[in-house]
Amino acid sequence: MLQGKVAVVTGSTSGIGLGIAAALAADGAAIMLNGFGDAGAIERLKRDLAERHGIKAGYSAADMSKPAQIRELVAAAEHELGSVDILVNNAGIQHVAPVESFPEDKWDAIIAVNLSAAFHASKAAIPAMKRRGWGRIINIASTHGLVASAEKAAYVAAKHGIIGLTKVVAIETANAGITCNAICPGWVLTPLVQRQVEARARERGQTVEQAKNALLAEKQPMLRFTTPENLGALACFLCSDAAATMTGEALPMDGGWLAQ
Ligand code: NAD
Repeated sequence: MLQGKVAVVTGSTSGIGLGIAAALAADGAAIMLNGFGDAGAIERLKRDLAERHGIKAGYSAADMSKPAQIRELVAAAEHELGSVDILVNNAGIQHVAPVESFPEDKWDAIIAVNLSAAFHASKAAIPAMKRRGWGRIINIASTHGLVASAEKAAYVAAKHGIIGLTKVVAIETANAGITCNAICPGWVLTPLVQRQVEARARERGQTVEQAKNALLAEKQPMLRFTTPENLGALACFLCSDAAATMTGEALPMDGGWLAQ
C-alpha cells in the first residue's frame, strides 16, 4: 500500500519509533532510520528491516536537538531514498522533577528534541511534499499533550506545544494533499518508561512488577500497556487513503486515560 513512498522516522532505533518504522516497512515504504545506539545493532536493524520487507532502508545519526543536522536528515533521505513522503516526528526524551528544581539544561533539551525538532523537520520536508502533492506528517505527542502530570513540566509543555504545531501545519497544508496529525499514546513499555518504572521501584521499595502495575493503575483504567505495534498500525492507517481527510487531529491510544 505504501510502495514507492519514503518514510523518515526520527528516534527509530528503539521503542515506538522502531515499531512505527517496522509497520510502515511492512506496508512497503522505504525507511530512513534515525536515533542513537550501538552502530552494529543499528546496522543489523537496518538490514533486518530491508530483508524482511523487501524495502530500501537507510540510517542517519542526526541529533534532533541540532537544527542543521535535522535539515541534513531530510536531505539525506531525499538523496539516498528519493523523497520524504512520510515524516514521523517521534524522537523524545524525558526528565522528571518538580518545577523549582527542574534543571535548566534538561528543560532546554526536552523542548529542543520533543518540540522544536518537529518544527525544523516539518519545515524542511513540506516544500517537496507540496511539489509532489502528497505528504503525511505524524507527530508523536502523548496523553501529556492533552493533560498534565506533576514533575513533567518540560515534557508536558513540549507535548502540548507539538499538538498546537500539528494544527497549524494541518491548516497550512490542507489543500496540498498533505495531512498532519498527532498520536497521543498512554503508557507504552519502552526504555523511556522502563527507566521511570525502575526509579519508582527504587524510591518506593517495590519490585519492578509492582511498580509497573502501580504506574498503570495511577492513570489508566485499562491495566495494560499500548505496544509499539499498536501505534504502528495507527500510523499506517493515517498514511492510507482512508485517512485522506483526517488532519489536525490529536488521536489518543491510551487505555482510557483521557476518558476519566
Ligand atoms: P525510547 O527511549 O525507547 O526511544 C526514543 C528514541 O529517540 C530512541 O531511538 C533514541 O535514540 C531517540 N533519540 C533521543 N534523543 C535523540 C536525539 N537528540 N536525536 C535523535 N534521536 C534521539 O522512547 P519511546 O518511549 O519509544 O518514545 C518515543 C516517543 O513517544 C517520544 O516522543 C515519547 O515522548 C513518546 N511517548 C512515549 C510514551 C511511552 O509510554 N513510552 C507515551 C507517550 C508518548
